[in-house]
Amino acid sequence: MEVEKFPTYEPRQGLLDGRVILVTGASEGIGAALALASGRLGATVVLVARTAAKLERVYDQIVASGGPTPGIFVADLADPGGEQFGQLFAALEKAYGRLDGLVHNAGMLGDRTPIEHYDVVTWQKVLHLNLTVPFFLTRTLYPLLRKSSDASVIFTSSGVGRAGRPFWGAYAVSKFGVEGLMQVLASEVADNTTIRVNAVNPGATRTAMRRAAYPAEDPSQLKDTDEILAPYLWLLGPDCQKVNGRSFDAQ
Ligand code: NDP
Repeated sequence: MEVEKFPTYEPRQGLLDGRVILVTGASEGIGAALALASGRLGATVVLVARTAAKLERVYDQIVASGGPTPGIFVADLADPGGEQFGQLFAALEKAYGRLDGLVHNAGMLGDRTPIEHYDVVTWQKVLHLNLTVPFFLTRTLYPLLRKSSDASVIFTSSGVGRAGRPFWGAYAVSKFGVEGLMQVLASEVADNTTIRVNAVNPGATRTAMRRAAYPAEDPSQLKDTDEILAPYLWLLGPDCQKVNGRSFDAQ
């Protein structure tokens, strides 16, 4: 797997003007920061997560920053019934008629446990949210991505999705799967669509998930969520139209 360290990039004002961009896991952490930055750069952002109050806070921040009015879709993406996907498709089709950006960011850590002892139910939950949900969501929203003249799909990877490390269990395997899904989809869209598909590993970032993975770590040594957004914003905008099938490290 070839991984590229992302160089510096300063998004210009209005970079994402007129684009409709959906961010999963937009209620906190990296997803919230990306949603806010995208709104500030002119995108109409659709915020998706389970916690309405936190999504409303991000919504208010985007509006206060002068960004276009966002959309909010409160849903448990892991709900096994799957109705949330059809509902989201219908809401997006009605409101916007297309989708220019799809950022698969929502995720869960699961257990930090050896495979020998890994809990089977936790394994299934992690694989489901981190890998199957991005597949299902992409498949459902594909017709709306096709209606965009320049659609960008971003999968969120991890360092442990590119080289196996002990005790990362289902999380690491799910991120390896995400890289595979990205590559398969990228090869399918390459010739006959204007969709591009890439993966970003944000690297160690100060969020609740990182705290759960490394409880003893000093968080002040980590990058803030605002500091790792450059590859996401570049991939979502018009400056990288031919970029497809690549894996980037934000740090
Ligand atoms: P957080 O735990 O801080 O945020 C996770 C987000 O996902 C929240 O908005 C949460 O919202 C949402 N979410 C979780 N479960 C569901 C669900 N079932 N349905 C809908 N939304 C859900 O994570 P980070 O910001 O740290 O991570 C974001 C991404 O970056 C993840 O994919 C992670 O694997 C990846 N990553 C993070 C790194 C880091 O150091 N932070 C390093 C490498 C990769 P709510 O609870 O409201 O549903």
